[in-house]
Amino acid sequence: MTDQYAVIGNPIGHTKSPLIHGLFAQETRQDISYTAIEGPTGPAGAFAASVRAFFEGGGKGINVTAPFKLEAFAMSDECSDRAQLAGAVNALKFDGGRIFADNFDGIGLVRDIEANLNLPMAGKRVLMLGAGGAARGALLPFLEARPAELVIANRDVDKARTLAAQVAGRGSLLACGYAELARMGRFDLVVNATSASLTGDLPPVPPSVFSPKGAAYELAYGKRLTPFLRLAKNAGVHGMADGVGMLVEQAAEAFAWWRGVRPETGSVIDRLAVPFD
Ligand code: NDP
Repeated sequence: MTDQYAVIGNPIGHTKSPLIHGLFAQETRQDISYTAIEGPTGPAGAFAASVRAFFEGGGKGINVTAPFKLEAFAMSDECSDRAQLAGAVNALKFDGGRIFADNFDGIGLVRDIEANLNLPMAGKRVLMLGAGGAARGALLPFLEARPAELVIANRDVDKARTLAAQVAGRGSLLACGYAELARMGRFDLVVNATSASLTGDLPPVPPSVFSPKGAAYELAYGKRLTPFLRLAKNAGVHGMADGVGMLVEQAAEAFAWWRGVRPETGSVIDRLAVPFD
């Protein structure tokens, strides 16, 4: 029988997940169906009820996107370390009556940076902008990549500091506000994990953080040259990428977790990538 999977979010019309998982299934010859579900935004408990209904109807796994990643975490029976730290999950698996949860956003991001863009983070100075859900999910995978230094900057500095305190002892991590960045010199990699680009805004990052030998990574995707990437380009960075590779890599991790086979991602990324202007 065909195994059922889905992505749940609201809004969900824009999702690329059914296309990505459909391509993975073709490539790996897995007999699955993958649909998009518009999740209920209220009342409390409605999201969990939808997910349970999907599982009770035979669903094996579900990807979770905004705004439900925290609720998905809350309803899980067991989750990974990185999901625990993020307090948010983007994939659920139903097995033996229990709900298992993980967060593959950060590992997908690291894989895109290191394997696809060929930018190993070990020994590098890395700056991450933002301390929201995506940044929280990326923190442990980033520290595991052993950068020489990881700085996390956020408008609300307390949020960045709380995050840094949660991973104390797991690697070198410094939390700060944007004003302090001007005296921190250049970084090998600057990652925009804020949601500023979704509204066409630029986080208040000084151009002095970019290095001509370094790279800039924008988590948002499908937006062509965002204000952040434009700033990086004008500062003369060597490499630039948006989050389409992260999207495909996190999907591949979830697919492997569900199906036990990891699909090849390069052709799927090429198919979805939007060229910069
Ligand atoms: P959240 O809403 O959880 O966090 C938003 C973050 O952005 C906060 O740190 C907030 O700072 C900061 N922020 C918002 N506006 C501005 C601004 N104008 N200037 C500076 N900082 C700003 O969002 P997520 O973490 O879920 O998403 C972040 C980005 O990552 C989005 O672009 C999203 O599309 C992308 N994403 C991409 C994925 C992919 O697969 N490629 C997967 C998941 C997310 P403060 O705390 O100070 O308000």
